[in-house]
Amino acid sequence: MARSVLLLYTGGTIGMVADTEGGGLKPLDFNHLQGQVPELNRLELDIAYEAFEPPVDSSDMSTEHWRHIARRIEANYDDFDGFVVLHGTDTMAYTASALSFMLRGLSKPVILTGSQLPIGVLRTDGRENLITAIQLAALEKRGAAFVQEVAVYFGSSLFRGNRTHKYSAEDFNAFHSPNLSPLAEAGIHLQFRNDLLIRTDAKARLAVHDRMEEAVAVLTLFPGIGERVVRQICRTPGLRGLVLHTFGSGNGPTAEWFIDALREAREAGVEIVNVTQCSSGFVEQGRYATSSAFTDLGIVPAGDMTLEAAVTKLMHVLAYAADPQEVARTMMLSLCGELTTYSSLV
Ligand code: ASP
Repeated sequence: MARSVLLLYTGGTIGMVADTEGGGLKPLDFNHLQGQVPELNRLELDIAYEAFEPPVDSSDMSTEHWRHIARRIEANYDDFDGFVVLHGTDTMAYTASALSFMLRGLSKPVILTGSQLPIGVLRTDGRENLITAIQLAALEKRGAAFVQEVAVYFGSSLFRGNRTHKYSAEDFNAFHSPNLSPLAEAGIHLQFRNDLLIRTDAKARLAVHDRMEEAVAVLTLFPGIGERVVRQICRTPGLRGLVLHTFGSGNGPTAEWFIDALREAREAGVEIVNVTQCSSGFVEQGRYATSSAFTDLGIVPAGDMTLEAAVTKLMHVLAYAADPQEVARTMMLSLCGELTTYSSLV
């Protein structure tokens, strides 16, 4: 029997066509996709389609959309060998991260892809991205799925989804995974890093944990940031989580008002997570005096998590953890490969 893949089109450039009336780009009727990519018929796979109605530019993605994707995967889980989510590139790294936390016990591939140029355009990168993503979603070894996690396939690399970041608005290689090597490279052969692939216990069952706390903010630091702005963000009514986007290995100003604003937020019950603005490397609180106070305040170092992974993980953990200790503990654990845990730092 042929392997089966469910293609879920959410929106984004890959499925856009030039709007002859209004100018700009509008979503393609998904049934035309097979006409644009006749190679799909040669894959010898059972491919089913579903589309968001209406499709959304990924800048409009919300927790409700993430939930919908997770629920559609759950509803079709037993009927398909793998899933391909076609998604706009702009926020693909957030969706991939969010889905990785929502889809617990995943043992089938969920591959997100998209393109920089619409699929009907002559020089499109969408055709290769789509075909290889489908092949990866169908791949098996001795009856078990080869990829058993949420991944992003883009520009000939397969990345762990919650390690990705969109770094180019221009290149066909729009994504990178600064703290984890690609899981696979697609050249003449598909070359896998078997040592990096997540292996799920064969007995595991998919469980969708799709609650997300939306009362979360990101505070990106810069030299000269004003007290009024910082205090305002820290005092946001109802705020439950704050991602502090810091310098270097997790550093920030030592000014009294700054530390005081963070202390006030902590006292009001806000969980604060320290994520570095550097795209590679990790947060090491206490390495410099400019981060020592963070540890005293109970601010949680995010290690080498991307901003996308840290934000969505905090939203997820806040929705499930019973108490602040559990939030801190869970944020520092790797739930699905989003974080490198070091046994010792020499
Ligand atoms: N604005 C589009 C989106 O993210 C860009 C893309 O698809 O590449 O939905």
